Amino acid sequence: MHLARFPRVRLFPTPTPLEKLENLSRTLGGPEIWIKRDDCTVVATGGNKVRKLEWLIGEARAQGATHIVTQGAVQSNHVRQTAAVARRFGMTCTALLEHRVETNDRDYLNSGNVLLDKLFGCKIEYRASGLDMNAEAEAKGAALRAEGEKVYVIPGGGSNPVGALGYVSCAQELVQQADEMGLRIDRMVTASGSAGTHAGLLVGLQGCNTGIPVLGIGVRLPKDRQEANVHRLAEATASYVGLAGGIPRSAVEANCDYVGPGYGQPTEGMREAVELLAQEEGILLDPVYSGKAMAGMIDLIRKGTIGKNERVVFLHTGGAVGLFGYTGFFESAPAT
Ligand SMILES: *Cc1c(COP(=O)(O)O)cnc(C)c1O
Repeated sequence: MHLARFPRVRLFPTPTPLEKLENLSRTLGGPEIWIKRDDCTVVATGGNKVRKLEWLIGEARAQGATHIVTQGAVQSNHVRQTAAVARRFGMTCTALLEHRVETNDRDYLNSGNVLLDKLFGCKIEYRASGLDMNAEAEAKGAALRAEGEKVYVIPGGGSNPVGALGYVSCAQELVQQADEMGLRIDRMVTASGSAGTHAGLLVGLQGCNTGIPVLGIGVRLPKDRQEANVHRLAEATASYVGLAGGIPRSAVEANCDYVGPGYGQPTEGMREAVELLAQEEGILLDPVYSGKAMAGMIDLIRKGTIGKNERVVFLHTGGAVGLFGYTGFFESAPAT
């Protein structure tokens, strides 16, 4: 795959670190756990959306856009990263924030990502939960175009074939990095939400002919719908980059047993995972994605589904800023 055919802006130094989690691996009694630090993508405290935005903003600039419209949940990491990158290129950012999580919590509604969105000068509009948010963003984009704005609409999570290039390229980067370190990788684990990260990794790892399986831990939808979304986007991305043969449906694996009561709703497993990584490794996960993904990986290790002799790479997708939207939960005593 030859990604230089597509427009891109460069936003952070690569490769992001690939680190061994010595203490966590020891505490869990194996497997050997490594972490790919995509929380270290620099812009606006980093996260996986910065990788996607290299390609999305690259295309927006190539089209002459000066106004970015996107959408997400109230505590969207994607919106925070998009708002910051837009400013970096002198663009306006309008974001539609969906009240996807039902709460009146002051921190959830004002702190964390929302606070940073406002610092980045993002124009925020709120929407009730349950709408087709990508359709809302398209409608907002059309309204702004009618006012003469040069608009580029980015779907939720930056998850389309253009944004997924960020994770096609991450897979290439990781394979080269592991080869240079002499590190055989048996499996990758990532949070799987709007699917661009999961789908991009599948295409990139397939394109490098690695045979490394990717386990996505779902954070919102049931397994059948999540796998269908990931597969659809992986096929579209494979076709966009010209990867012959596409991605077989059997390569798409999502475990959606760790969502808990719903998207963005905290679980005790997430609390344990966030506290464990903080206290064993000095690494901050987030409450909505990487915390639940790590909770899933830890449980699957304890159950033996992930073998003791494997070498696993967990993708850290960032999001720690979201912790400040959940202060009440972390201050409260664990439910027993
Ligand atoms: C958006 C996000 C994800 C999920 O990535 P998708 O490409 O939407 O599946 C995971 N972790 C964090 C912290 C995120 O912000």
